[in-house]
Amino acid sequence: MNDYTCYHCEHQVSHVHPVTFYETDGERNELLCKECYAEWLESIKG
Ligand SMILES: [Zn+2]
Repeated sequence: MNDYTCYHCEHQVSHVHPVTFYETDGERNELLCKECYAEWLESIKG
């Protein structure tokens, strides 16, 4: 069952990772698939 939609690539996936984006107007919680989560981790590492 693919129950979730990735916030970034909009793929339907069975497992997602919750992430918190920090923006100028505050925090936003979103769900990312494994691939997008890995990219996001790389992006915050710098
Ligand atoms: Zn994704």
